[in-house]
Amino acid sequence: MFAYYLLTYVPHPNSGNRECGDQTLYDRRMLNVVVIGNQASNWIERLRSARPDDRFDIDGAWTDPRVVNAAVISVPNAKPLLRYPSLGFIQSLWMGVDALLSDPELDPDTALARMVDPGMPVSMAETVTAHVLWAHRHGDVYQRNQRNRLWEERHQPLAPQRTVTMLGLGELGRRSAQTLIQLGFTVVGWSRSAMPVDGVHVTADLEVALSVGEIVVNLLPLTDATRGVLNVNAFRAMPVDAVLINVGRGAHVVDTDLLDALDARHIRHAILDVFAEEPLPAEHRYWIHPHVTVTPHVAADSMPATCIPVVAENLRRLAAGEPLNHLVDRTRGY
Ligand code: NAP
Repeated sequence: MFAYYLLTYVPHPNSGNRECGDQTLYDRRMLNVVVIGNQASNWIERLRSARPDDRFDIDGAWTDPRVVNAAVISVPNAKPLLRYPSLGFIQSLWMGVDALLSDPELDPDTALARMVDPGMPVSMAETVTAHVLWAHRHGDVYQRNQRNRLWEERHQPLAPQRTVTMLGLGELGRRSAQTLIQLGFTVVGWSRSAMPVDGVHVTADLEVALSVGEIVVNLLPLTDATRGVLNVNAFRAMPVDAVLINVGRGAHVVDTDLLDALDARHIRHAILDVFAEEPLPAEHRYWIHPHVTVTPHVAADSMPATCIPVVAENLRRLAAGEPLNHLVDRTRGY
């Protein structure tokens, strides 16, 4: 019984070493980690190399699921976790954990960390910059005009004369904002805490932020407070001819309100990477709308090369009883 306890016991993630008389016991402890998700086989060998003393196996490979004390997952629901009763820690490989958090089957007491992949802000900043520059240089207008053989020049301001509004100034929003600032854009940011960010005009007033955003980039997490935030009121607050870039989550947008604002030519164009239903259903109007660009949720992806050290560090901390990194605040929802 004691041997079984030693094998499966995971000190509370924030207990430091208070509960362990002999810290080395935990440093030596082997973790049993289940890796769940359709990319599991891509990750497992790298995880084994990073933490050779731990056991990693895919879902279904454990003859006794009770020995599993940690999970590394890339799935949107808690169902596959239910067969592991001793789980003390879940490490998501995704930065957004909204789908998982909304699953009532997720154990509220199991520590959950989201992925904060150091490569992802770089990747997201590239995507945001590409879309912002395209909108700034009227790429959408000229592409439509070409289809109509229409030779029509638009007045072209320079970046400092263009205001980009960034909704969400977290890991991804901050990096994207700073890249745009380096290009000379004026960046206004909206966040819950309105924490200052170098070079960004930060406000906690959404209407103010939207009213100046000629290009609005959404990089909020999806929570009860942000669901449907891009609705008729938000679109009315945005200047006429504004462009929306949604790389947050599909459910931030009220689709019917956006389509109305596009049809009314209040919003000039929407570049949408994320959708309430993914893949975007074939019959959805977004696919054929002349003022919409669709990309298939590819703005930024977790890369094993940059994620593995993050996962390995959290597993080391778990085994040592040290505070874990990037724990999700269940009350805030992100
Ligand atoms: P993060 O670090 O958690 O930052 C979230 C930001 O949003 C923070 O600035 C936060 O404010 C702000 N915020 C949260 N709730 C708010 C509210 N109610 N009102 C105003 N501001 C609020 O998140 P992240 O890592 O940057 O990621 C953002 C999101 O990007 C993810 O949740 C995910 O949905 C999405 N994402 C998309 C892709 C893609 O490929 N399209 C890839 C990765 C992630 P505070 O600063 O005050 O906390």
